[in-house]
Amino acid sequence: MTRATRARINTDALRHNLTRARAMAPGAKVMACIKANGYGHGLVEAAQALSGADAFAVACLEEAMEIRSAGLAHPVVLLEGIHRSTEVATVRDNDFELVLHDQAQLAMLEQAGIPLRLWLKVDTGMHRLGFSVADAPAVRERVREGGLAEGPMRYMTHLASADEPAGTPDPRGQIDRFLELTRDWSGERSIANSAGVIDWPDSHQQWIRPGIMLYGVTPFVDRSGEAVGLRPAMTVTTELIAVKSVEKGGRVGYGGGWSAPREMKLGVAAIGYGDGYPWHAANGTPVLVNGRPSRVVGRVSMDMITVDLSEHEDAVVGDPVTLWGEGLPVEEVARHAGTIPYELLCGVTRRVKFDVD
Ligand SMILES: *Cc1c(COP(=O)(O)O)cnc(C)c1O
Repeated sequence: MTRATRARINTDALRHNLTRARAMAPGAKVMACIKANGYGHGLVEAAQALSGADAFAVACLEEAMEIRSAGLAHPVVLLEGIHRSTEVATVRDNDFELVLHDQAQLAMLEQAGIPLRLWLKVDTGMHRLGFSVADAPAVRERVREGGLAEGPMRYMTHLASADEPAGTPDPRGQIDRFLELTRDWSGERSIANSAGVIDWPDSHQQWIRPGIMLYGVTPFVDRSGEAVGLRPAMTVTTELIAVKSVEKGGRVGYGGGWSAPREMKLGVAAIGYGDGYPWHAANGTPVLVNGRPSRVVGRVSMDMITVDLSEHEDAVVGDPVTLWGEGLPVEEVARHAGTIPYELLCGVTRRVKFDVD
């Protein structure tokens, strides 16, 4: 039997979500985040579907080169900048844009002496990448004096907890610090990730940087993409490969951590952690069988899961099982698996067949 496990990528949904992002941030340009293989959807496939974006953002030079190799001439922003001076020529030859976020990079650019398109990154509270608010003005001066920037310099910061209702640091404080710092600087600004696009209008500025929302998913634990007008771009499905009954008290799966409360019907579906379905998916994690709600029982195996068919009297081998996507928000699955939707989307493995339509 060929493996029925599939990830269907709905490019209409990607286009729809881009339109939605634009509508939420009128007037702002869109830097579509397609790092990490387009959040698992396929880097080139995502870039092509999202070609209406004003720019793409990726994590590294390899990802940027894939976009160019696919024939897309958009501006491409390297969110982590470059890591060695030998990369300068590739950046210049392909007209990539760099996020400049620390002193070692600054020294590299000074040594190269070739002006590049730059985003100066300021750390307003996340304490990951970026120059401190105190250091940023001096760095800006060095870039200007050294003639290191091709065209106007631009400014960026990143929100640490815009997705948490009572997050720390408070997005309000980060946004205010950034706007205060850059108030007298001419040049475009960018603050908003998806959470900023959806919830923080004054983070929109000239460029928004949506990622997860373009794939139809929100970063919020309490709101699905559908609730904010998005459509899921990835739907993961498989089939039942066995249907059986288990007696009352029968233990299911590795470790026997779940036992049947009564005699009941079970199904085995062809997906497991070897496909990127999370091992941490707890008993009760929702799935759909024939489009109707069911749930995982027992531990996730490498290639299989067991599902409760007690309310699926008609279910037979070969019936479709949906793990997430259309009809079943990945946010909900992530919650049951103790993870975030980002990880589930990025983690679908190579043996799953991708259908792009
Ligand atoms: C990934 C990333 C984004 C997009 O974040 P989402 O939460 O997926 O919208 C924006 N900005 C930076 C710097 C990023 O690394």
